[in-house]
Amino acid sequence: SDNIRNMMFGLDALVELDNNKMVPAINLDNAATTPPFKEVIQEIERQLMYYGSIGRGKGQKSENSTEVYTNGRDIVKDFVGANSDIYTVFYINNATDGINKLASAFIESPEDIVLSTRMEHHANDLPWRERTKTVYAEVDKKGRLIVDDIKRLLKAYNGRIKYVTVTAASNVTGYVNDVHYIAKLAHQYGAKIIVDGAQIVAHRAFNMLGQTLEENIDFFVFSAHKMYSPFGGGAVVGLTDVLNKHIAKFYGGGMVEAVCDYSVRYLPAPDRYEAGSPNYPGVVGMLRAMEVLKCIGFDYIKNHEQILLRRALDGLMKLPGVILYGDNENIADRVGIAVFTLRGIKNEEVANFLAGYRAIAVRHAAFCAHPYVRRLTGGSDTSGSFCYPLEGMVRISFGIYNNETDVDTFLATIKELLYSEYLRHFARVKNNSVQ
Ligand code: PMP
Repeated sequence: SDNIRNMMFGLDALVELDNNKMVPAINLDNAATTPPFKEVIQEIERQLMYYGSIGRGKGQKSENSTEVYTNGRDIVKDFVGANSDIYTVFYINNATDGINKLASAFIESPEDIVLSTRMEHHANDLPWRERTKTVYAEVDKKGRLIVDDIKRLLKAYNGRIKYVTVTAASNVTGYVNDVHYIAKLAHQYGAKIIVDGAQIVAHRAFNMLGQTLEENIDFFVFSAHKMYSPFGGGAVVGLTDVLNKHIAKFYGGGMVEAVCDYSVRYLPAPDRYEAGSPNYPGVVGMLRAMEVLKCIGFDYIKNHEQILLRRALDGLMKLPGVILYGDNENIADRVGIAVFTLRGIKNEEVANFLAGYRAIAVRHAAFCAHPYVRRLTGGSDTSGSFCYPLEGMVRISFGIYNNETDVDTFLATIKELLYSEYLRHFARVKNNSVQ
């Protein structure tokens, strides 16, 4: 674990506490974004020395960059278990960009029906619902996806659902979905499956190719900044023949074979999905991060995260006034994310206290997954009523470099907050009784 901490860039940067002391931060907000590996930064720096325009220029630098960029598609395929000619990789800026590109390409009429879930991040909900009829599979009381609901909807729409789009892991509860089984269901009913991989790529080994043809994932989308590379990288890996039948509504240079006055011939995928000058540093950083993650190994990563999550949950469960969400007994199907609230204390206050008192970074509110958070916190469907914002919860999320000391410092800080709140409450009661 110490070795891994040494591999991270920026962990020892000092931040200021409320008492003006400067200390290194403890980052428990890795589901939002992760710090980069040092090797990633070094690789970006090295590649920028030999950098030239991608695909369009001549000269050694341009040829070098083009080669790294092009060969990188195979590294991506290998990383997501998609070593087959049926798949093509195109680079994107982030998962939001990728899903919007797919939705803009695939939705041809508002009659097309998409099946999504109530567990999705807005990035895998709004791009669909704003373009076409979208139906949603529900989650249960603990927040797990009801897979039978997917089956029910596929059956009810009897072959009319064109795409099933589902997250591989939730950014709120960390539940990992059995997307290969969902793929099988989708395929049985003639739909294609799109998987939002934003929260899985840094946590579990992922194979797009399933045990059987039916279980293959058709499209997989993810961001690089959640897997130890800086902002701006990401990829879509998807079925070449489907990608070539469509085109994203995102146009510009680099995607065409020929443009005439009144007609255009577009290149096949990946180029037709990559209009504009690409983000080369984002791509090379992502490629190196994939190599480093593979080297560390996902067995280690999964096991390490489970240890941290168990420790954090056990600690939180012991404290009075802590409300935890989701199934916190059985965590085998969760990546390292936990959500909670403290009775009587606003989530924002909790987050401010953690940051100001011990430089612990967390996130609070509704994590761009409002329908899901609304369900977890006791609300349900809001159809017909005013769509109000949510108080939400506080989220902690682990990266591979977090350790047990981070968890214990977090728990001790929550304890201090609860204790100071108890004293404040006690003083209020005492004052009232004196009056
Ligand atoms: N899907 C999930 C599950 C996510 O957690 C996120 C980021 N929080 C996204 C999609 C969107 O990723 P990005 O902001 O990098 O586009």
